[in-house]
Amino acid sequence: MFIPDKIYFEKAISNYELGKELLEKYKDVPKIEIENHNNIEEMRKKENKEFPRMKKNLIIGIRKTHKFVENHKISDYLVPYTSSGCTASCLYCYLVCNYNKCAYLRLFVNREEMLDKIIKTAEKSERSLTFEIGSNSDLILENTITDNLVWTIENFKNTKQGFLTFPTKFDMVDSILPLDHKGKIIIRVSVNPEEIIRKVEFGTSDLDFRINAINKLKDAGYKVGLLIAPVIFIENWKDKYLELIKYLDAKLSPKVKKELFFEVIFMTYSYVHTKINEEAYPNAINLYDKNLMTGRGNGKYWYKNDIREEGEKFFRENLGKYFPNNKIIYIV
Ligand code: SF4
Repeated sequence: MFIPDKIYFEKAISNYELGKELLEKYKDVPKIEIENHNNIEEMRKKENKEFPRMKKNLIIGIRKTHKFVENHKISDYLVPYTSSGCTASCLYCYLVCNYNKCAYLRLFVNREEMLDKIIKTAEKSERSLTFEIGSNSDLILENTITDNLVWTIENFKNTKQGFLTFPTKFDMVDSILPLDHKGKIIIRVSVNPEEIIRKVEFGTSDLDFRINAINKLKDAGYKVGLLIAPVIFIENWKDKYLELIKYLDAKLSPKVKKELFFEVIFMTYSYVHTKINEEAYPNAINLYDKNLMTGRGNGKYWYKNDIREEGEKFFRENLGKYFPNNKIIYIV
């Protein structure tokens, strides 16, 4: 279980059932009251090298913005949900936005309000909508602290229509396996070659554990997808990703392979990542490759068109060869 070094909390969390539970669960952890989870001055002032230590804190507050953002990839809406940030430290994590502000795990205790808005939107829609609830955090990880996923599935299952979906890099799925989810939950497990997981995705589950989790989720009747993401063009990337595709082919159960779909996402990176990672993880690999990447404004980088095209061709060819019956939803 994650035991934080310190908890920063908004006073009003004690008005919520989950807030009370978390205060009780962590009663022995030192606590600091804050005005607003979005603006913790002490954290903002910390140096980049303290980034890994900051991840050991937990922030508990109330989510104030509930704006749904239209999305046309895998869902209809990206929905702010019960957490933001994560205890792991993937070097490319896009939640590392404004120098330290989003680094740590923030939990939001007003889950009833958030799920209620999703259910109302789902039920009044003319067609069945899919809501992405995991774009700001990793809900499988969060669930080990809050049980929020169990609560969410239990409370969403009788909704007249609609689906919930989220991605994960973790394997702790056992608590949701026995639930009567009624096929309304789509779980997308994110994978990378083991070498990248080890060198870049610090604190996440190993590849074998993630594959095992997909097989278990499918046996429990969940709809599952695989995200090959983010694709990082390290040296010998074709060999590494081909090995990964063959390994997936060998290890995924026939039941998974029958219905699995793929999403492939190329890594994006930024100047902020470079600065934080240089100071916080001086021995880690540098993901910025000036020969392969180019700026896209606001200090952000992505891979140049020719390498993206080569990447797309590679994945279409090899996923097509080893998973001929599975759909690639997009490659971006
Ligand atoms: S697991 Fe996801 S949310 Fe957590 S650090 Fe990695 S990319 Fe970010």
